[in-house]
Amino acid sequence: MDESPHKLSRPEPGGAHETDVIIVGAGPVGLFAVFELGLLDLNAHLVDVLDRPGGQCAELYPEKPIYDIPGLPVVTGQELVDRLLQQIAPFHPTFHLAQLAESLERTDDKRFRLKTELGTVITAPVLVIAAGGGSFVPRKPKIEGLEPFEGTSIHYAVRRMDRFRGRDLVIAGGGDSALDWVLNLQPVAKSITLVHRRDDFRAAPHSVAKMRALVAEGKVRLEIADLKGVEGAEGQLSAVLCSSKEKGAYTIACTDLLPFYGLTMKLGPIADFGLNLHENLIPVDAEKFETSEPGIFAIGDINTYPGKLKLILCGFHEGALMAQAAFRIARPGERLVFLYTTSSTDLQKKLGVA
Ligand SMILES: Cc1cc2nc3c(=O)[nH]c(=O)nc-3n(C[C@H](O)[C@H](O)[C@H](O)COP(=O)(O)OP(=O)(O)OC[C@H]3O[C@@H](n4cnc5c(N)ncnc54)[C@H](O)[C@@H]3O)c2cc1C
Repeated sequence: MDESPHKLSRPEPGGAHETDVIIVGAGPVGLFAVFELGLLDLNAHLVDVLDRPGGQCAELYPEKPIYDIPGLPVVTGQELVDRLLQQIAPFHPTFHLAQLAESLERTDDKRFRLKTELGTVITAPVLVIAAGGGSFVPRKPKIEGLEPFEGTSIHYAVRRMDRFRGRDLVIAGGGDSALDWVLNLQPVAKSITLVHRRDDFRAAPHSVAKMRALVAEGKVRLEIADLKGVEGAEGQLSAVLCSSKEKGAYTIACTDLLPFYGLTMKLGPIADFGLNLHENLIPVDAEKFETSEPGIFAIGDINTYPGKLKLILCGFHEGALMAQAAFRIARPGERLVFLYTTSSTDLQKKLGVA
């Protein structure tokens, strides 16, 4: 769910697109790369498996303060993401969210063609991997028999809210994602039952208060219980099995189960992009941050080189140098002039301030 105050350009999944640079990963480093590329007139499309931009900052510590971003003595993870989105808005990046970058091939004219799990195809002369610690993958409930229902009746992400219109949902979990989806899907679904093992929620206090108000109004059912199993046939759930001290074992009828038990990170399909890897990181040179494959760059937490520090500010520096090298590939024969944003009216026009 994209809750950013900035309107993002998000085409329907499944289309074909051409651009100057494909960026895999919309974490802070992928976002700032859009800025550095934009100053050089290079357009970017970003792909992220998460349904909102911001990577670790937005997903793991949105409300924690960061103290080592130059010029911002203190900024929370989400504020930094919002400021980056504001900063790159003049360059109109295109976001392909909630989809894993799945496969990569070279075209006959030596460009890269990236395909996502939702069938989106993006072609560009430059590919930038800003995939951080890898793609976020959902933690699944530790119960048997989930597989036959996954993707049809069990969902670890909400790709389209309308998919759940008029359905009987069980949402499991006690963090921000579980509570956000209870609040967002409540007007759409026929019924919502929230199942959590304790009557104590890790989610933002205002979300918990809103959820409790819906429970008091009888619009959401809250069950303090352990999720124990699922029932159904041919990919269609009919109920989940629960157990609690008070009620013992019991079932809740439903059409769909949405477990939100947090995320872990793994390198995922990037391991099959044909790049040299070192302990699941991508070795690059420290001049251009190019990988073993010409035209493919890796910036941010995903790369490794002598002296590498996994800091946001280092990723920003890597993005600036990568952009210079990307220009030479995307605009062969064109002259690259080094300019300051302070004094160049050309750059200021691109930023919409002159
Ligand atoms: C609790 C915590 C506190 C931190 N505090 C600080 C701090 O104070 N200062 C600091 O500088 N750093 C801090 N960090 C580290 C900082 O968050 C990372 O250095 C930074 O997020 C790296 O940015 P990135 O854009 O390289 O990667 P990420 O933020 O990891 O973003 C990568 C994105 O790529 C996506 N992705 C990966 N593979 C795929 C794929 N195949 N398809 C689609 N999408 C994919 C992921 O879903 C993710 O959104 C902290 C980290 C944590 C966990």
